[in-house]
Amino acid sequence: MDKTKCLIVGSGPAGYTAAIYASRANLSPVLIEGMQPGGQLTQTTVIENFPGFPQGITGPELMDNMRQQAVNVGADIRSGSVTDVDFESVPYRVTIDDGSVIEAETVIVATGAAAKYLGLPDEIKYQGMGVSACATCDGFFYRKKVVAVVGGGDTACEEANYLASLAAKVYLIVRKPFLRASKAMQDRTLNNPKIEVLFEHNAEGLYGEGGVEGVHLVSRLGQPDEKHYDVAIDGFFLAIGHKPNSDVFKKYLKTDDTGYFVPADNSGVKTVVPGVFVAGDVADPHYRQAINAAASGCRAAMEAEKFLSHK
Ligand code: NDP
Repeated sequence: MDKTKCLIVGSGPAGYTAAIYASRANLSPVLIEGMQPGGQLTQTTVIENFPGFPQGITGPELMDNMRQQAVNVGADIRSGSVTDVDFESVPYRVTIDDGSVIEAETVIVATGAAAKYLGLPDEIKYQGMGVSACATCDGFFYRKKVVAVVGGGDTACEEANYLASLAAKVYLIVRKPFLRASKAMQDRTLNNPKIEVLFEHNAEGLYGEGGVEGVHLVSRLGQPDEKHYDVAIDGFFLAIGHKPNSDVFKKYLKTDDTGYFVPADNSGVKTVVPGVFVAGDVADPHYRQAINAAASGCRAAMEAEKFLSHK
Protein backbone atom coordinates (compact mmCIF):
# COMPACT_ATOMS: atom_id res chain seq x y z
CA MET A 1 0.00 0.00 0.00
CA ASP A 2 1.16 3.52 -0.86
CA LYS A 3 1.87 5.86 2.03
CA THR A 4 2.43 9.60 2.02
CA LYS A 5 2.73 12.41 4.52
CA CYS A 6 0.52 14.61 2.40
CA LEU A 7 -2.09 13.61 -0.15
CA ILE A 8 -3.51 16.36 -2.34
CA VAL A 9 -6.75 15.73 -4.22
CA GLY A 10 -7.33 17.99 -7.21
CA SER A 11 -5.21 19.66 -9.87
CA GLY A 12 -6.47 23.22 -10.17
CA PRO A 13 -4.56 26.27 -8.89
CA ALA A 14 -5.27 25.22 -5.27
CA GLY A 15 -4.00 21.66 -5.71
CA TYR A 16 -0.86 22.58 -7.65
CA THR A 17 0.02 25.42 -5.28
CA ALA A 18 -0.44 23.10 -2.30
CA ALA A 19 1.83 20.59 -4.07
CA ILE A 20 4.53 23.23 -4.63
CA TYR A 21 4.48 24.36 -0.99
CA ALA A 22 4.24 20.83 0.43
CA SER A 23 7.12 19.64 -1.76
CA ARG A 24 9.33 22.52 -0.68
CA ALA A 25 8.47 21.69 2.96
CA ASN A 26 9.80 18.14 2.37
CA LEU A 27 6.41 16.49 2.69
CA SER A 28 6.90 14.53 -0.58
CA PRO A 29 3.25 15.03 -1.54
CA VAL A 30 1.25 12.78 -3.82
CA LEU A 31 -1.31 14.67 -5.94
CA ILE A 32 -4.30 12.92 -7.52
CA GLU A 33 -5.31 14.89 -10.60
CA GLY A 34 -9.01 14.00 -10.84
CA MET A 35 -11.26 13.76 -13.86
CA GLN A 36 -10.21 17.06 -15.39
CA PRO A 37 -6.43 17.54 -15.01
CA GLY A 38 -5.70 21.24 -14.61
CA GLY A 39 -9.27 21.94 -13.50
CA GLN A 40 -11.67 24.57 -14.75
CA LEU A 41 -8.99 26.93 -16.04
CA THR A 42 -8.17 24.47 -18.80
CA GLN A 43 -11.55 25.49 -20.26
CA THR A 44 -11.00 29.24 -20.24
CA THR A 45 -9.44 31.53 -22.78
CA VAL A 46 -7.03 34.32 -21.84
CA ILE A 47 -6.69 35.15 -18.15
CA GLU A 48 -5.92 38.81 -17.64
CA ASN A 49 -6.26 39.03 -13.87
CA PHE A 50 -3.68 36.53 -12.61
CA PRO A 51 -0.77 38.68 -11.37
CA GLY A 52 2.58 38.21 -13.05
CA PHE A 53 1.37 37.99 -16.64
CA PRO A 54 1.05 41.54 -17.94
CA GLN A 55 0.02 40.36 -21.41
CA GLY A 56 -2.37 37.73 -19.99
CA ILE A 57 -1.91 33.98 -20.23
CA THR A 58 -4.21 31.22 -21.47
CA GLY A 59 -5.82 28.99 -18.84
CA PRO A 60 -4.23 25.76 -20.16
CA GLU A 61 -0.77 27.39 -20.29
CA LEU A 62 -1.09 28.71 -16.72
CA MET A 63 -2.08 25.27 -15.48
CA ASP A 64 0.72 23.55 -17.42
CA ASN A 65 3.18 25.97 -15.82
CA MET A 66 1.84 25.28 -12.33
CA ARG A 67 1.95 21.53 -12.91
CA GLN A 68 5.50 21.70 -14.22
CA GLN A 69 6.55 23.81 -11.24
CA ALA A 70 5.03 21.22 -8.86
CA VAL A 71 6.85 18.40 -10.68
CA ASN A 72 10.14 20.37 -10.66
CA VAL A 73 10.07 20.66 -6.88
CA GLY A 74 9.32 16.97 -6.43
CA ALA A 75 5.54 16.44 -6.34
CA ASP A 76 4.37 12.96 -7.33
CA ILE A 77 1.45 13.68 -9.67
CA ARG A 78 -0.84 10.78 -10.56
CA SER A 79 -3.92 10.47 -12.73
CA GLY A 80 -7.11 9.06 -11.20
CA SER A 81 -10.13 10.12 -9.18
CA VAL A 82 -10.93 9.58 -5.53
CA THR A 83 -13.92 7.28 -5.06
CA ASP A 84 -13.95 6.86 -1.27
CA VAL A 85 -12.27 8.13 1.88
CA ASP A 86 -11.91 6.86 5.43
CA PHE A 87 -11.08 9.67 7.82
CA GLU A 88 -11.99 7.70 10.99
CA SER A 89 -8.40 7.30 12.14
CA VAL A 90 -4.83 8.22 11.13
CA PRO A 91 -3.42 7.34 8.68
CA TYR A 92 -6.37 8.39 6.57
CA ARG A 93 -7.25 6.00 3.75
CA VAL A 94 -8.14 7.32 0.31
CA THR A 95 -9.39 4.98 -2.43
CA ILE A 96 -8.65 5.79 -6.08
CA ASP A 97 -10.81 4.71 -9.04
CA ASP A 98 -8.28 2.06 -10.09
CA GLY A 99 -9.01 0.32 -6.76
CA SER A 100 -5.72 1.30 -5.11
CA VAL A 101 -5.67 2.79 -1.60
CA ILE A 102 -3.28 5.48 -0.40
CA GLU A 103 -2.60 6.01 3.31
CA ALA A 104 -1.98 9.64 4.19
CA GLU A 105 -1.06 11.48 7.38
CA THR A 106 -2.62 14.67 6.01
CA VAL A 107 -5.05 15.26 3.16
CA ILE A 108 -5.70 18.47 1.23
CA VAL A 109 -9.02 18.42 -0.62
CA ALA A 110 -8.89 20.81 -3.59
CA THR A 111 -11.46 19.19 -5.86
CA GLY A 112 -12.94 22.38 -7.33
CA ALA A 113 -16.38 22.73 -8.81
CA ALA A 114 -18.24 21.57 -11.93
CA ALA A 115 -20.65 23.37 -14.26
CA LYS A 116 -24.35 23.29 -13.35
CA TYR A 117 -27.13 22.34 -15.76
CA LEU A 118 -30.75 23.51 -15.74
CA GLY A 119 -32.05 19.99 -15.21
CA LEU A 120 -33.99 19.78 -18.47
CA PRO A 121 -34.29 16.24 -19.89
CA ASP A 122 -33.30 17.73 -23.27
CA GLU A 123 -29.88 18.70 -21.88
CA ILE A 124 -29.15 14.99 -21.50
CA LYS A 125 -30.84 14.07 -24.77
CA TYR A 126 -28.68 16.51 -26.76
CA GLN A 127 -25.46 16.23 -24.73
CA GLY A 128 -22.61 16.29 -27.23
CA MET A 129 -25.17 17.03 -29.96
CA GLY A 130 -25.49 20.76 -29.41
CA VAL A 131 -25.49 21.10 -25.62
CA SER A 132 -22.31 22.19 -23.88
CA ALA A 133 -21.14 23.86 -20.67
CA CYS A 134 -17.83 24.98 -22.14
CA ALA A 135 -17.68 27.54 -24.92
CA THR A 136 -13.91 27.36 -25.17
CA CYS A 137 -14.03 23.60 -25.64
CA ASP A 138 -16.87 23.46 -28.15
CA GLY A 139 -17.21 26.95 -29.65
CA PHE A 140 -15.12 25.94 -32.64
CA PHE A 141 -18.00 23.75 -33.88
CA TYR A 142 -20.33 26.75 -34.11
CA ARG A 143 -18.42 29.01 -36.47
CA LYS A 144 -20.89 31.15 -38.41
CA LYS A 145 -23.80 29.42 -36.64
CA VAL A 146 -26.40 30.63 -34.16
CA VAL A 147 -26.02 29.73 -30.48
CA ALA A 148 -27.64 30.52 -27.14
CA VAL A 149 -25.93 30.96 -23.77
CA VAL A 150 -27.91 30.67 -20.53
CA GLY A 151 -26.92 32.83 -17.54
CA GLY A 152 -26.33 36.43 -16.57
CA GLY A 153 -23.08 36.26 -14.59
CA ASP A 154 -19.45 36.85 -15.59
CA THR A 155 -19.09 33.35 -16.97
CA ALA A 156 -22.16 33.69 -19.22
CA CYS A 157 -21.02 37.07 -20.53
CA GLU A 158 -17.47 35.82 -21.08
CA GLU A 159 -18.76 32.78 -22.96
CA ALA A 160 -21.21 34.86 -25.01
CA ASN A 161 -18.42 37.22 -26.07
CA TYR A 162 -16.10 34.35 -26.89
CA LEU A 163 -18.80 32.64 -28.95
CA ALA A 164 -19.65 35.92 -30.68
CA SER A 165 -16.09 35.94 -32.04
CA LEU A 166 -16.89 32.69 -33.87
CA ALA A 167 -20.64 32.42 -34.35
CA ALA A 168 -22.97 34.45 -36.56
CA LYS A 169 -25.24 35.32 -33.62
CA VAL A 170 -25.47 34.68 -29.89
CA TYR A 171 -28.63 34.85 -27.79
CA LEU A 172 -27.97 35.39 -24.09
CA ILE A 173 -30.88 33.96 -22.10
CA VAL A 174 -31.12 35.79 -18.75
CA ARG A 175 -33.88 34.97 -16.28
CA LYS A 176 -33.75 38.34 -14.49
CA PRO A 177 -34.28 41.84 -15.97
CA PHE A 178 -30.56 42.58 -15.42
CA LEU A 179 -27.11 41.01 -15.72
CA ARG A 180 -25.29 39.96 -12.58
CA ALA A 181 -21.87 40.23 -14.27
CA SER A 182 -19.28 42.91 -13.45
CA LYS A 183 -19.87 46.34 -15.01
CA ALA A 184 -17.02 45.95 -17.52
CA MET A 185 -18.34 42.59 -18.65
CA GLN A 186 -21.90 43.91 -18.88
CA ASP A 187 -20.74 46.78 -21.11
CA ARG A 188 -18.75 44.46 -23.34
CA THR A 189 -21.76 42.17 -23.71
CA LEU A 190 -24.44 44.80 -24.25
CA ASN A 191 -22.25 46.60 -26.81
CA ASN A 192 -21.44 43.47 -28.80
CA PRO A 193 -23.52 43.71 -31.99
CA LYS A 194 -23.58 39.93 -32.37
CA ILE A 195 -25.12 39.34 -28.93
CA GLU A 196 -28.85 39.71 -28.33
CA VAL A 197 -29.69 39.66 -24.63
CA LEU A 198 -33.09 38.14 -23.88
CA PHE A 199 -33.89 39.47 -20.42
CA GLU A 200 -36.59 37.77 -18.33
CA HIS A 201 -36.37 34.63 -20.43
CA ASN A 202 -36.07 30.96 -19.48
CA ALA A 203 -35.29 27.94 -21.62
CA GLU A 204 -37.98 25.28 -21.34
CA GLY A 205 -36.61 22.67 -23.69
CA LEU A 206 -34.78 21.99 -26.93
CA TYR A 207 -35.86 20.50 -30.24
CA GLY A 208 -34.24 19.06 -33.32
CA GLU A 209 -33.70 15.87 -35.28
CA GLY A 210 -30.32 14.33 -34.47
CA GLY A 211 -29.05 17.54 -32.85
CA VAL A 212 -30.18 20.89 -31.46
CA GLU A 213 -32.15 22.93 -33.99
CA GLY A 214 -33.87 25.29 -31.59
CA VAL A 215 -34.85 26.24 -28.06
CA HIS A 216 -38.32 26.55 -26.53
CA LEU A 217 -38.38 29.85 -24.62
CA VAL A 218 -40.73 31.47 -22.17
CA SER A 219 -40.58 35.20 -21.50
CA ARG A 220 -41.80 36.87 -18.30
CA LEU A 221 -42.71 33.59 -16.70
CA GLY A 222 -45.69 33.92 -14.36
CA GLN A 223 -46.55 37.47 -15.52
CA PRO A 224 -49.82 38.39 -17.29
CA ASP A 225 -47.88 38.84 -20.56
CA GLU A 226 -46.05 35.50 -20.30
CA LYS A 227 -45.19 34.29 -23.78
CA HIS A 228 -43.94 30.98 -25.16
CA TYR A 229 -42.06 30.83 -28.44
CA ASP A 230 -39.22 29.05 -30.25
CA VAL A 231 -35.92 30.35 -31.55
CA ALA A 232 -33.77 28.46 -34.03
CA ILE A 233 -30.25 27.76 -32.70
CA ASP A 234 -27.48 25.28 -33.44
CA GLY A 235 -25.83 25.22 -30.02
CA PHE A 236 -27.00 25.63 -26.42
CA PHE A 237 -24.41 26.63 -23.81
CA LEU A 238 -24.93 26.55 -20.04
CA ALA A 239 -23.18 29.16 -17.90
CA ILE A 240 -25.30 29.24 -14.74
CA GLY A 241 -22.71 28.63 -12.08
CA HIS A 242 -21.01 25.64 -10.57
CA LYS A 243 -21.50 22.79 -8.12
CA PRO A 244 -18.66 22.03 -5.70
CA ASN A 245 -17.10 18.56 -6.03
CA SER A 246 -17.47 17.64 -2.37
CA ASP A 247 -19.75 14.57 -2.41
CA VAL A 248 -17.11 11.93 -1.65
CA PHE A 249 -16.00 13.81 1.49
CA LYS A 250 -19.38 14.91 2.88
CA LYS A 251 -19.57 12.05 5.38
CA TYR A 252 -16.65 13.56 7.30
CA LEU A 253 -16.41 17.25 6.34
CA LYS A 254 -18.98 19.95 6.99
CA THR A 255 -20.68 21.51 3.93
CA ASP A 256 -23.27 24.25 3.45
CA ASP A 257 -26.64 23.74 1.78
CA THR A 258 -25.12 23.95 -1.69
CA GLY A 259 -22.25 21.56 -0.96
CA TYR A 260 -19.37 23.99 -0.39
CA PHE A 261 -17.05 22.99 2.47
CA VAL A 262 -17.37 25.11 5.58
CA PRO A 263 -13.93 25.50 7.15
CA ALA A 264 -13.67 24.90 10.89
CA ASP A 265 -11.95 28.20 11.70
CA ASN A 266 -10.76 31.46 10.20
CA SER A 267 -7.69 29.82 8.62
CA GLY A 268 -10.24 29.03 5.89
CA VAL A 269 -8.58 25.65 5.27
CA LYS A 270 -8.85 23.61 8.49
CA THR A 271 -11.73 21.15 8.84
CA VAL A 272 -13.28 19.31 11.78
CA VAL A 273 -10.94 16.38 10.98
CA PRO A 274 -7.41 17.12 12.26
CA GLY A 275 -4.92 16.95 9.40
CA VAL A 276 -7.56 17.21 6.69
CA PHE A 277 -7.67 20.56 4.92
CA VAL A 278 -9.76 22.12 2.15
CA ALA A 279 -8.64 24.62 -0.49
CA GLY A 280 -9.85 26.34 -3.62
CA ASP A 281 -13.31 26.65 -5.18
CA VAL A 282 -14.72 23.63 -3.35
CA ALA A 283 -14.56 25.74 -0.17
CA ASP A 284 -15.20 29.14 -1.76
CA PRO A 285 -18.77 30.01 -2.76
CA HIS A 286 -17.97 33.71 -3.10
CA TYR A 287 -14.76 34.66 -4.88
CA ARG A 288 -13.98 31.64 -7.09
CA GLN A 289 -10.85 33.18 -8.56
CA ALA A 290 -7.67 31.34 -9.47
CA ILE A 291 -5.55 33.63 -7.34
CA ASN A 292 -7.71 32.93 -4.28
CA ALA A 293 -7.61 29.21 -4.96
CA ALA A 294 -3.81 29.33 -5.23
CA ALA A 295 -3.58 31.31 -1.99
CA SER A 296 -5.74 28.83 -0.10
CA GLY A 297 -3.67 25.93 -1.50
CA CYS A 298 -0.62 27.63 -0.04
CA ARG A 299 -2.34 28.03 3.35
CA ALA A 300 -3.50 24.41 3.37
CA ALA A 301 0.04 23.13 2.68
CA MET A 302 1.51 25.36 5.38
CA GLU A 303 -1.12 24.12 7.87
CA ALA A 304 -0.39 20.51 6.86
CA GLU A 305 3.30 21.07 7.49
CA LYS A 306 2.56 22.67 10.88
CA PHE A 307 0.20 19.82 11.79
CA LEU A 308 2.87 17.20 11.01
CA SER A 309 5.65 19.02 12.83
CA HIS A 310 3.47 19.31 15.97
CA LYS A 311 2.71 15.59 15.94
P1 NDP B 1 -22.82 33.36 -10.99
O1 NDP B 1 -23.38 32.57 -9.85
O2 NDP B 1 -22.20 34.67 -10.73
O3 NDP B 1 -23.96 33.63 -12.06
C1 NDP B 1 -24.84 32.58 -12.43
C2 NDP B 1 -25.84 33.16 -13.43
O4 NDP B 1 -26.66 32.09 -13.87
C3 NDP B 1 -26.75 34.22 -12.82
O5 NDP B 1 -27.08 35.18 -13.78
C4 NDP B 1 -27.97 33.38 -12.44
O6 NDP B 1 -29.15 34.11 -12.44
C5 NDP B 1 -28.01 32.39 -13.57
N1 NDP B 1 -28.71 31.17 -13.19
C6 NDP B 1 -28.44 30.34 -12.14
N2 NDP B 1 -29.30 29.31 -12.13
C7 NDP B 1 -30.13 29.49 -13.18
C8 NDP B 1 -31.23 28.78 -13.69
N3 NDP B 1 -31.66 27.64 -13.13
N4 NDP B 1 -31.86 29.27 -14.78
C9 NDP B 1 -31.45 30.40 -15.38
N5 NDP B 1 -30.40 31.14 -14.95
C10 NDP B 1 -29.75 30.69 -13.86
O7 NDP B 1 -21.83 32.33 -11.70
P2 NDP B 1 -20.62 32.62 -12.69
O8 NDP B 1 -20.14 31.26 -13.06
O9 NDP B 1 -21.00 33.53 -13.76
O10 NDP B 1 -19.53 33.34 -11.79
C11 NDP B 1 -19.11 32.76 -10.55
C12 NDP B 1 -18.04 33.66 -9.91
O11 NDP B 1 -16.85 33.66 -10.72
C13 NDP B 1 -18.49 35.11 -9.80
O12 NDP B 1 -17.99 35.64 -8.60
C14 NDP B 1 -17.84 35.77 -10.99
O13 NDP B 1 -17.63 37.16 -10.79
C15 NDP B 1 -16.54 34.99 -11.10
N6 NDP B 1 -16.02 35.01 -12.48
C16 NDP B 1 -15.09 35.96 -12.81
C17 NDP B 1 -14.57 36.03 -14.07
C18 NDP B 1 -13.52 37.05 -14.37
O14 NDP B 1 -13.26 37.88 -13.51
N7 NDP B 1 -12.91 37.06 -15.53
C19 NDP B 1 -15.00 35.12 -15.16
C20 NDP B 1 -16.02 34.18 -14.72
C21 NDP B 1 -16.49 34.15 -13.43
P3 NDP B 1 -29.57 35.09 -11.23
O15 NDP B 1 -28.75 36.32 -11.39
O16 NDP B 1 -31.01 35.27 -11.50
O17 NDP B 1 -29.30 34.32 -9.98
